[in-house]
Amino acid sequence: MASYQFEIKQQNKLMILKHIYRYEPISRADLAKQLNLTKATVSNLVDELMREAYLYQIGLGVSSGGRRPLMLKINEKAGFTISVDIGVNYIRSILTDMKGNIFVKQTKVINTNDYTLTLQHIDQVIQSFTEQTNESPFGLIGIGFGVPGLVDQHGVIKSTPNLDWQLPDLKDRYENLFHVPVIVENEANAGAFGEKSFGEGKEANHFIYISGGIGIGVGLIFDGVLYRGRDGFTGELGHTVIRMDGLTCSCGKKGCWERYASELYILKEYETFKEESWQTLRLEDAVADAAQNPEIAAIFERAAKHFAIGLTNIINSFNPEKIIIGNRLTQAEHLMRPIIRATVQEMAITPIAEKVDIHFNNTDQLSTVLGLSAFSIEHFFDRQFKVSNSPVS
Ligand SMILES: [Zn+2]
Repeated sequence: MASYQFEIKQQNKLMILKHIYRYEPISRADLAKQLNLTKATVSNLVDELMREAYLYQIGLGVSSGGRRPLMLKINEKAGFTISVDIGVNYIRSILTDMKGNIFVKQTKVINTNDYTLTLQHIDQVIQSFTEQTNESPFGLIGIGFGVPGLVDQHGVIKSTPNLDWQLPDLKDRYENLFHVPVIVENEANAGAFGEKSFGEGKEANHFIYISGGIGIGVGLIFDGVLYRGRDGFTGELGHTVIRMDGLTCSCGKKGCWERYASELYILKEYETFKEESWQTLRLEDAVADAAQNPEIAAIFERAAKHFAIGLTNIINSFNPEKIIIGNRLTQAEHLMRPIIRATVQEMAITPIAEKVDIHFNNTDQLSTVLGLSAFSIEHFFDRQFKVSNSPVS
């Protein structure tokens, strides 16, 4: 009996905490009303949560007649997260508090095909980030990694078509090194979750996040929730085929969408105007050259048309309210967006296409790292209030 009561109490605390997380600042009275709990229960549990450092109260809110209420907020400084987005040609890392506010961010241009070098860089970043944090009640609550490839629901990396990694073991390695929970996610799924948690998709229930880098990854938010499929392998839409007997893709097949619409396509076309190989060329330079050279601008036009073909297939399949394009290609927004929009309007089924909002998220390409932080925070709360022997979700 006691353990049943304890379980209910833990569930209520978690529910209160998550509600405050989403709707803060909020009063005890509103919490009781919105969560259908008694005022006494809310008061007791909130007191406990404050003693345990999860919450604090701030000044007085707006009165609805009687005394002005004290408002509750998440103690965002109680812990911190580190998140690392491992792209094919960059590593982006952030240190955040418990509300996704960024203390430090760092982007390094690096060929991550070299797994050992990649690990060396990540070790240094995590070390330096942890040295920059203050004492806090929970300290480092989790580390998250976004990778461009197939990752199952246990964080095991199954394949990375654009990276030649052998048996990458990020989760075990960093759990052993730093003794905190480590999550590993597909970078586009993390990007979609980042947009849902902190970004452009906060108010949207049906949206699709498209990560445009060397490959194209896709994260699907349906009914407000990240759709993962049976094994967590959704979103490999970069490898949907748009051309019969087309160019060979990193996945080994031919004619994939990402081969025609990604940073890789642009760099390989850009290479024909340059004396060096695409691997050492930079998208930033191609974007700059496009302003002077119409032939370079035409590369982006072709990429945008191809991009629109894949997007049309996605829009016709899923009827999203919003498409959010993030990652490297956002730098070419001015060159690609008008063509993408016009081409989608022309090709997609009209009643579906005319309502969809196609949007580039240009805020520093942070969708994936913020999503990883949101995952770490959510997992932390769930872990803290988990009752042992009860089924883990
Ligand atoms: Zn492919």
